[in-house]
Order: sequence, then structure tokens, then C-alpha cells
Amino acid sequence: MIIKNRDIVDDDWNVLRLGENDTPENAAVPDGKVIVPFKVWESQRGTLRHRADIGVWLASNERAEDLQNDLAVFRVIAVDFPKFADGRGYSIAYQLRNRLGYQGELRAIGDVLRDQMFYMQRVGFDSFATRQDKDIHEARKGLKDYSISYQASSDNASPLFRRVERGSDEMNTLQQKINQTIAVLQQAALEFSPVVFANSLGAEDMVLTDLIAKYRPDIQMFSLDTGRLPKETYDLIQEVRKHYAIPLQVYFPNNALVEEYVSQHGINGFYDSVESRKGCCFVRKVEPLRRALKGKGAWITGMRRDQAVTRGTLEFSAFDVDNGLQKFNPLLDWSNNDVWTYIRQYEVPYNKLHDQFYPSLGCAPCTRSITPGEDIRAGRWWWENPESKECGLHVSSTSLKASRERIIEIASQTNVEKHEVSA
Ligand code: SF4
Repeated sequence: MIIKNRDIVDDDWNVLRLGENDTPENAAVPDGKVIVPFKVWESQRGTLRHRADIGVWLASNERAEDLQNDLAVFRVIAVDFPKFADGRGYSIAYQLRNRLGYQGELRAIGDVLRDQMFYMQRVGFDSFATRQDKDIHEARKGLKDYSISYQASSDNASPLFRRVERGSDEMNTLQQKINQTIAVLQQAALEFSPVVFANSLGAEDMVLTDLIAKYRPDIQMFSLDTGRLPKETYDLIQEVRKHYAIPLQVYFPNNALVEEYVSQHGINGFYDSVESRKGCCFVRKVEPLRRALKGKGAWITGMRRDQAVTRGTLEFSAFDVDNGLQKFNPLLDWSNNDVWTYIRQYEVPYNKLHDQFYPSLGCAPCTRSITPGEDIRAGRWWWENPESKECGLHVSSTSLKASRERIIEIASQTNVEKHEVSA
């Protein structure tokens, strides 16, 4: 008997284990449904691959990737747990389901006990050959040990903070917000052309990317590559390029300014003080932003009012004194749930770090994952007070003044034209 798809069922597969005198090359594989060790499969692949009743099992020190060219052959893949505390089988199962896309039966064999069942199903196991000396009915109860799980995994790709189902009333409200957002985009494009969208590649900005591509493709789109972005953000930049017909222009920092900043503060000098951090943000973000906004009538951001204490007084549209043009925040009234409902509903590409508890994204050294109950921006510049947590792209002129003056000073020392940082 095994547990399969949560039921207790008869099992007609035999698991072949090598005896002392067996070698993978000479091991006899009986007729009927057999799950053979990976080493036997490797050695006898030429004959075994024609059988419809063949499965394979991986030892905990073997690799899921070694099966990637043969996955379609197997009706069952088993992963062996030599002892209760050996966790390597979880990684193998996760790789098979999520990286390699294996869809068939994935079975846990060996030292499989009730206490592991819940976690095993989370990484993709759907059948369990529990230990013979234990009560299989008791073991099955382990599949329901917890009613809810916080992390994303094979059985649910969304972490808890994104797992919200919506009733029809709420969907209507979301549709109204979508309509309102499109109207704001229309107004910006009609009254302030040329208009640019500053795409930070976070979840909100992917909603805007989707809406702009569908309704106002004449709005230009750009991102700032600070040079310190996480790999997942670069992956998304590439995906946006493939997915949407509108171009995404990437702006880089001025290399002379970065070199000067690093020589003054060190490569990670931003950890030393708020001023030093804002200096880095100015060099890597604000100065390139100024170049991106030059000559434009308005710019668009994905900021929401409930994102942070620093954003509570935002408006849909206001004149941006610092940058000298109109600024629009079309997602102002959207909630986090609205954003993720839209992404799910319209299958919008998004940054995979969001699945690892990064609700707010930025540069790699200044962003970390959050834990349940923490504020949504708690992972940004976590060593600072919430009141200082802006990068300089969205703050008032007074708070930026000190940083800008310092950079202008640096620029004058390094022969960078003054207008580039003071425009
Ligand atoms: Fe520098 Fe961090 Fe700001 Fe990125 S977020 S520009 S690394 S201080």
C-alpha cells in the first residue's frame, strides 16, 4: 500500500535495490512495473528505454538534472530518503517539478514518516511509500498537519502575502481602478507629450508596463541600471523585451561619478550613514533619472499611497519641482492585492524575487526579504529609519539638496559637466 494523491491505494510497482553482488551493468530487471536505481538506468538505458513499465529512483546524492533528457520515459520517479534527517531528497523533488517540469508521479521512498509528509507534498511529491513498520493511515494525517503555509513552493507558487482570492464585487472595484489608471495615462499622453514611464521593474511597474503596452504605447519606457541590481531584475529586463512590443531604454550611471563616489566612500559606503547612502542613490539613480527626464513633458511612476509612510500624501498628478515637469502616479489607489490580482489575471511577467518574500525591490545590497508581519518596505535599507527610506527619485528638493550639492562638487572635481547633475 502507498499514499497516492492523498488516498491509500494498492501499489503494483516493485522497487529494485541492488544486492551485494549486483553491479548496475549485470543487475537483472524483472518483468512488470519496476522502479530501477538510476545507476541501473544509466547502464542499461539502451534496452530499458523501450519498456512502458519502467520507473527510476534517485539516491539522495544523485542529481535531478541527470534525468532531464529522459523524463518523458518515466511514469514514476522515486526519490530515496536513506534516513529521516536527510533533506537532500526535498531539493531533488523541487528541481524535478519546478526546474525540469516533470509532471508524472513523484514518489518518496525509504525512511518516509508522518512528520515529513506535509513538507514533502509541498516540494512536489504526490505519492509516498511510507515505512513498513508504521501505520500508513496515521502517516496520511501528516499531509494535513498545517492548514496554511507562508512560503511559495511546488504546491502553491504564491507566498501568503499574494494569495488572495477575489469576489465579484472586488473584481468590479479592480476594473474601476484599471479604467481610472487608463484614463490617467490617456490624460498624461494627450496633455504632456512627450511622456516617459520610469519602470523600476517592481510588481506595480509591471502592471503599468502591461497597461501602457495595451493602451498608450506612445508613452516611452525606461529603466535605471544602477550596476548593483539583482540577477532576477536583469532576467526580467530581458523578458520585458521579449514579451512586449514597446522598447525599454536602459540608462546607466555616469562612470566618472561612480568612480569618484567609490574612491571617497568605498564600494559599499552606503551602509555607513544615511547621507552616504543617499549620495550613492544620487550617483546611481537620480543623476541618470535627470538625463532620462530631460526634455519630457511628464513622467509616470508606479507609486502607491499605502506603500510607505513617506508616500501617504501622494497625488495622482502634481508638478515635480525637482525635475521641472509633471509627475503622474496612476496606481495611487491600488492595494498590494489589486496589483497581484492584475498580474495573475493578465499573466504579466514579474520579478521572481517577489516569490521569495521581496515585496519591494531595489539594488541587491540594499534589499532583503521580509518576514511575516513586517512592513512591505521593511526589506529596503533595513538599517535606516522608515522616514528616511527613499532613494531620491521621489523626494522633495529640500531633502535632496545636501546630496546634490555634494555630487555637483564631485562632478566639478572630476570634469563632469555641471549641467548633467544640476539640470
Ligand atoms: Fe546605492 Fe543602495 Fe541606492 Fe542602489 S539602493 S544606488 S546600491 S545606496
